[in-house]
Formats: sequence, structure tokens, C-alpha cells
Amino acid sequence: MTTDYAGPLPDTTDPLTGPHWAAARDGRLAAQCCARCGALRWQPAPICPECLQAGGDWVDLAGTGTIWSFAVYHRAMGPAFRDAVPYTVAMVELDEGPRMVGMLTDAADDGSDVTIGQRVRASYEPVTDDVTLVRWVRA
Ligand SMILES: [Zn+2]
Repeated sequence: MTTDYAGPLPDTTDPLTGPHWAAARDGRLAAQCCARCGALRWQPAPICPECLQAGGDWVDLAGTGTIWSFAVYHRAMGPAFRDAVPYTVAMVELDEGPRMVGMLTDAADDGSDVTIGQRVRASYEPVTDDVTLVRWVRA
């Protein structure tokens, strides 16, 4: 199943971010975890920002968190999003700590039903046969 998504697509073969996209295709949220100090990180990075250890193991996360901040987009950030406005983008503080940005797909068009601190869970939107995007909905 895919949607009529016309936005940019990631390179799912990128060795740094590929595990995230593979997990999303499977309906899982994953992040890197430092093998030395155990710090979870998002975005993916080649070294741990806490202790500078290279690499990192990918671990599954709960896929739940709270809205740390959000914005309602009334102007499309590019032509591909012209038909999507207005839409709400949330910064979600995951229960494990890292913060992740994504569309909050169950928000009212004007965002009036969204508040900081609301519980959310990841949802997974297949947009091509290869790419599944992580979205957020209220839990
Ligand atoms: Zn570390």
C-alpha cells in the first residue's frame, strides 16, 4: 500500500540511515545506541556525540513519546507539499529520551487540538514499495 506522497525520498541504501528505513518498513522505530556508553541518539551519526565512540548498534524503541513542541504549517515548504497544507509537525520526545520530528497526522487542520505534553505513538506510512515514513498520532 502506498499513498500519493510527492515529497522527497530518502536513500534507503545509505549505510548510516538504512537501518532506520528498514525498521520503519517493518513497523518498528529504531535508533542508534552507543556500544560504549549506551547513549541513544537521533539523528543517526557516525560517532557518539557523548563519548565519540565510532559506530553504534541499532535498537528498537517503544515508538511512544510526548509532544515537546509543534508547529502548524500554513505555507508549503516546497511544491511537493502544496496540497498538504495546513499540516502539523511535532517534535516528539521519545520515552527513551531522543527527540524526533515528524508530521502529526491526526491533528485538526488548524492544530487547535494539539497541546505540548500530549502522548503520541509512531505510525508508519508506506509511500513507495521501499520507503515507509514515520508519522505521529495521538496515543
Ligand atoms: Zn557513547
